[in-house]
Amino acid sequence: MKHCVVIGGGVVGLTTAWALLERGHAVTLVERDGEVAQGASRANGGQLSYRYVSPLADAGVPLKALRWLLDPDGPLRFKPEASWAQWAWLVAFLRACRGPVNRRTTERLLALGAYSQASFARLQAEAQLGDTIALRSPGKLVVYRKPAEFARAAARVNGSGAEAALSHDDCVALEPALADSQATLAGGIFTPGEAVADCHAFCTELHARLRQHERFRGQLGARVDGFLTDLRGCVSGVCTDAGDVTADATILAAGLHSRALAASLGLKLPLYPLKGYSLTAPITPGQHRPPEVSVTDFERKILYARIGQDLRVAAMADLVGDDLGLDTGRLASLQRSVRATFPNAADYDRAKPWAGLRPATPTGAPIVGESGIPGLWLNVGHGALGFTFSFATANIVAELVSGRASPLPLEGLSL
Ligand SMILES: Cc1cc2nc3c(=O)[nH]c(=O)nc-3n(C[C@H](O)[C@H](O)[C@H](O)COP(=O)(O)OP(=O)(O)OC[C@H]3O[C@@H](n4cnc5c(N)ncnc54)[C@H](O)[C@@H]3O)c2cc1C
Repeated sequence: MKHCVVIGGGVVGLTTAWALLERGHAVTLVERDGEVAQGASRANGGQLSYRYVSPLADAGVPLKALRWLLDPDGPLRFKPEASWAQWAWLVAFLRACRGPVNRRTTERLLALGAYSQASFARLQAEAQLGDTIALRSPGKLVVYRKPAEFARAAARVNGSGAEAALSHDDCVALEPALADSQATLAGGIFTPGEAVADCHAFCTELHARLRQHERFRGQLGARVDGFLTDLRGCVSGVCTDAGDVTADATILAAGLHSRALAASLGLKLPLYPLKGYSLTAPITPGQHRPPEVSVTDFERKILYARIGQDLRVAAMADLVGDDLGLDTGRLASLQRSVRATFPNAADYDRAKPWAGLRPATPTGAPIVGESGIPGLWLNVGHGALGFTFSFATANIVAELVSGRASPLPLEGLSL
């Protein structure tokens, strides 16, 4: 048994703690906030998108990005900063915007997604998280407005039955709420079995299960300020504002903030915040017609998921630094798009807005495993799919900490 310290009480840190306990280790989880899941895991899109991974970096994206920047309602914003981190990330992102890189990353993320789905099923069976996490598996429909984009996507459907290309009418038959839409759709790709759940409720429930475990200790409201190192330079725990915690293995899972913590050891993590927004709008049964399948509007980059009695809408990728402010212009733009696409789906006047920072790597693949510094492990950089991939990366890290081989090849997923 090892004593492990996990830094960060978001979905990645919590699932890591669970996977370590499952393997017989003792875990102290250190979270700077007084509650878990107050960062990017708070009000994200809720999609468990195991088979539609679509990394942002792709051939043609730089050109599209220029068009998006000129469109006031576009999914992207860019505020240049006098920051090395922003420019270095952008250069690496542009270098990743090539077809072969995208295809390789997609293959790796699909393998990670499949392993994550299986890992989540196991966790769900063991932890019995109950109805509060609002888990459903309605499948995912990606709708396309432009015929050329739809034709490209449909050409990639391989006939295995894992996904299906649907005409406009088939999309409406599958998801009747689309009949209300002002958008003209070229068609859609449907992936059956994809799930949605409330990430915040999942984290809260999982934390409650962790707290019942005798080998778990949660230190909420304790900020990690640095690392304990021994004479050989190995990491042997963390220094927090509530005292030091020694450990055999330290796992960095602090989302975007992992960047600054790693930098204190001279490690450069290629993470940059992609700011996104969500709206959570209440649904009144009998009055509203929400989409039941989870829907992604491909061109607008907007996700729709019914989570319990709310419609969760998530969108936008703004490169504007660490600013978490709610930009009224961006929220108004999101409201306009949502009201035009699903006008009768929920009470948008009462929608709660939220902004979060996706801890993104240039390729879109998380960084998992050894850090290069003995005693320190990484589970960071989950970007737009941290809820989806957290179950897989938690198990990979837990296996490595236990001295066993990674269950998946780590090429492209390590530092
Ligand atoms: C708008 C939006 C929509 C999204 N939609 C989806 C979706 O539909 N599906 C999906 O799979 N993913 C989605 N994501 C991505 C997902 O939310 C993130 O990838 C995921 O939440 C990252 O989890 P994390 O635990 O790494 O980070 P976080 O949730 O940010 O957790 C990091 C934790 O570390 C703590 N911390 C930081 N510094 C310290 C310190 N020094 N000491 C102690 N604790 C510290 C923080 O307080 C925080 O609680 C979305 C993200 C956004 C912003």
